[in-house]
Formats: sequence, structure tokens, C-alpha cells
Amino acid sequence: MTESRETLVAIVERCLAMDRLAVTVYRNFAANAADCELGEFWREMSAEEETHVAAWTDLLGLMFDREIPNLFQNPERTLRELAAQHEQVRNASAADLTLAEVPAQFLSAFRLEFYLLHPALERLWHFYHLLRESGRSPALDYESHLRKFLNALERWDAGRPELRLLGDVVLRLWTQMRELSHEASVDLLTRVLNRRGLLSQMKLLAYLSRRNDFTAGALMIDIDNFKLINDTHGHPAGDVVLANVAQLISGSVRKSDVVGRYGGEEFLVFLPQTDATAVAALGEKVRGAVELGTRGRIPATVSIGAACTQFSAGVEPGLEALIRSADRQLYVAKGAGRNVVAANC
Ligand code: GH3
Ligand code: MG
Ligand code: MG
Repeated sequence: MTESRETLVAIVERCLAMDRLAVTVYRNFAANAADCELGEFWREMSAEEETHVAAWTDLLGLMFDREIPNLFQNPERTLRELAAQHEQVRNASAADLTLAEVPAQFLSAFRLEFYLLHPALERLWHFYHLLRESGRSPALDYESHLRKFLNALERWDAGRPELRLLGDVVLRLWTQMRELSHEASVDLLTRVLNRRGLLSQMKLLAYLSRRNDFTAGALMIDIDNFKLINDTHGHPAGDVVLANVAQLISGSVRKSDVVGRYGGEEFLVFLPQTDATAVAALGEKVRGAVELGTRGRIPATVSIGAACTQFSAGVEPGLEALIRSADRQLYVAKGAGRNVVAANC
């Protein structure tokens, strides 16, 4: 087992341990609850934590039988942070198991949920969700989990405004953390993924592609003579063209395909599941959509390089090779007079 995988396994084990702790705490709260309905509420929360425990356990199993991408920029630091949080929550919760008073139970629960809010958990959830190809977004599940606490607090009004505030703080932290991580990966002008978001999403999907032996494809798309568009109509008008082209590209591909701004006026589409003939055809569809969709406005065309691959041993070198190959085809398309698709599939 490589060092990075060992670290990743240790990270997931910490998440698992924290969620196990939450199961135990909420189960105890259910047993000591002030009334039956509150007991039912804690049982429900405990059951939700159990689904997380099951997911972490499943993820650990998956990690042992295949290569896993590097999910964190600094896995050692993430592990240290999670270990510290786990210690905090373990010490704090040990004394809480017998709590029976409503405000004390909620305070303890908010503390637990707060420590479970580490961004690493969100990233891992997202990855797990992709691996298992399950339909429902885990982020939505978590948000509804937090909202249930707030609703319950209202219901069993604990008479402590500071608890309400604490609940709102935890929920706000969660939603803002998600918004920030979204903004960090999206290009503000074109609303498609930025380079960072694109590469990180591609990496995860490429692992899936390999696991299922799919053929994956890429389109490198570059706006033709864009400098001339800027020079003729001005930079702000050029910006509008860029945003418009990005939307025309997004509108031409599947929801499961990934679209990002790779550079200034260059976009990349990654197709995690396709077949060799479909890549060039999709390139043609995108090319036509841009030509048609910008007619009547500032006309723009794109040149497209298409490539495909089947990932084998190293997924990341495979991705780099795929991008290089699409880029080479883009130069072929430019050389062939622009507004054309060149494919190497
Ligand atoms: P080619 O057909 O060979 O691709 O020609 P081109 O003019 O499109 O290529 P070139 O690389 O010479 O010029 C790209 C231009 O894109 C230059 C740069 O100022 C412009 N550009 C890059 N990012 C932005 C942006 O965010 N907004 C605007 N308006 N222009 C941009
Ligand atoms: Mg260009
Ligand atoms: Mg360019």
C-alpha cells in the first residue's frame, strides 16, 4: 500500500469513527429522551448517521481493491486536522451519553455536527457518490439532516435562544462552505468549470471510466480568430461571446459530460463514457451549435480537436495524454482552415 493511500485510508477511518460516535450518542439520547416523540427524533438522527457509517465502510472496502485518486492537496494535513477533531469530539461526547435534558442534548448534538463539518467529508462524499453512481446528492442529504435539527429545536423549544443561534451557525457554515467550494471551481464569466474544477472533476470521472472499461473522449475547443473579435467589437463584447459560446457548448453535450474553460478562449469537454465514433460526431454537433447559435449576433466559430482513449494502469498520465492528443488535433483543425473538427479516435 502506498503512503498516500495509507493516509487516505486513515482519513476515511477517522470519518467513520466520528460518525460511529454520532450513532452512539444519538442512540443514547433516544433512550434517555424527555418524551417518546423526541426519542423517535433521536432514533431517526441515529439511523441517518448509520447510513453514513455504512457508506464509509463501503468506501474503505472499495479503497482496498483499486487505485484511488489523490483527493486532497495535502492529505497529511487533512488527516492531522481530522484526528484533532475526532479527539475533541470523542472527549466531549464521552460525558454526554447519559444526558437527558433537552437543551443539553441539542447542545451536544450541535457540537458533534460542527466537528463533522470538515470540508474533507464533503469531498469524500462527493467521490463516494461518483464511485457508487447513486442518484441522490449526498450534500442535499446532509443539508436536510441539519435542517431536521433546527426543526426539532423549534418543536421542543428548548427555551435557549443561544441554541437556535448555534443551529443557524452550523447550517450557515455548511451552506457557505459549499458555496465557496463551488465558486472556487467555477469560472465566473462563462459559468462553466474553471481549469482547477475541470481537472479535478476529470480525474475522478476518469477513475470511474477505467473501472468500467469505458472509452473516454475529449474535445479541445478554441474560438477562431478571437483576437479579431476583441479588436473589432471591444473586449466587453468579446466577453459576451465567450460566455455565449460556453453555454452553446454546455447545451450540446450530456449532463454527465464535463465542460470547463481550459484557458482564455479555449474550452475542454471530457466524456467519461462514450465510443470512438461518437466523439468526432459530438465535436461536429458542438461546432454546428456555435456557428448557428452566434448567427445574428457577433458571429463566432470554433475549431475542435477530438481524441479518445481507454484508461489503463495510470489514470492521470492517461488523462494528460488524452488532453495532449486533443490539443494536437486542434492544431490540425486550425491548419485545415478553422471552423472544423479534427479527430484522432
Ligand atoms: P486562432 O483562430 O488561431 O485561435 O486565433 P485567435 O485570435 O483566437 O488566437 P489568439 O491566441 O491569437 O488570441 C486569443 C485571444 O483571446 C487573445 C486574448 O486577448 C483573448 N482573450 C483571452 N481571454 C479573454 C477573456 O476573458 N475575454 C476576452 N474578451 N478576450 C480574451
Ligand atoms: Mg482562438
Ligand atoms: Mg487559443
